[in-house]
Amino acid sequence: MLITFWGVRGSVPSPGPNTIYFGGNTTCLTLETDKTFVIIDAGTGIINVGPYVKQKKISNMHMLFTHYHWDHLQGLPFFNPLFDSNIQIDMYGKKNLSEVLSLQMQKPFFPADYRNLPSKIAHKKFKKKFIIDDIEVETIENNHPNGCTGLKFKRKNKSFVFMTDNEIFSPTDRFTERDSFVDFVKNADYLVHDAQYLKTDMDKKAGWGHSTFEQAIELGIDGNVKNIVLTHHDPMRKDTELKSILKDLKKHYNNVNINAAKEFLSFEF
Ligand SMILES: [Zn+2]
Ligand SMILES: [Zn+2]
Repeated sequence: MLITFWGVRGSVPSPGPNTIYFGGNTTCLTLETDKTFVIIDAGTGIINVGPYVKQKKISNMHMLFTHYHWDHLQGLPFFNPLFDSNIQIDMYGKKNLSEVLSLQMQKPFFPADYRNLPSKIAHKKFKKKFIIDDIEVETIENNHPNGCTGLKFKRKNKSFVFMTDNEIFSPTDRFTERDSFVDFVKNADYLVHDAQYLKTDMDKKAGWGHSTFEQAIELGIDGNVKNIVLTHHDPMRKDTELKSILKDLKKHYNNVNINAAKEFLSFEF
């Protein structure tokens, strides 16, 4: 599996001199195998996936939506393959997927009508477990206002877990207990998890649907995960701050491999 980050920011795009290193686009990543191309979420990062798809001559793809908050959806109308009649996209999400996607492109919000796009789009509903070509996918309900789906991908004894927008200890939207999250991430090769907040942010932001750096890392450690990648960076978090936080975390949790997601960063396993 080849994983590439195209957008790593939470809440709202944050371009500017303070976010050049990690990037300012909202959530989007891709997972590739020799047979399959999967896009997860359609934050503004997806806009750069368009030229990549063209360059690699990919005509068949799968797009998974963890949930429908703006930062996971707002790049979709600007994803060029939607306007190409040679492209087939299987979209996956919870119920109302096609309604939600057409809603955000309705007049007066956007000039092109989702229901009449040139590309061939099919809508599929998430199940607890399902198959995409050569990949097994498993889902879990994250703790997040309005819900969010956690995703696990398995192929040839390798596994990758993506859990954005998840407040492990949510006081308000507790759909899943921590023990079940630990089981879900168990022995994963890579866990990419929401780490938007510092401990000190939680006085004001408990219940907003995001975890702290420490909570994300400790989940990975308890699940015996090999590599933990922190994402959904706060839009106000400067590169300098994030680099320094990461340095301290690596020092403190020195028995596990920790990294922070960054635009155009790829890893293969
Ligand atoms: Zn988000
Ligand atoms: Zn969200």
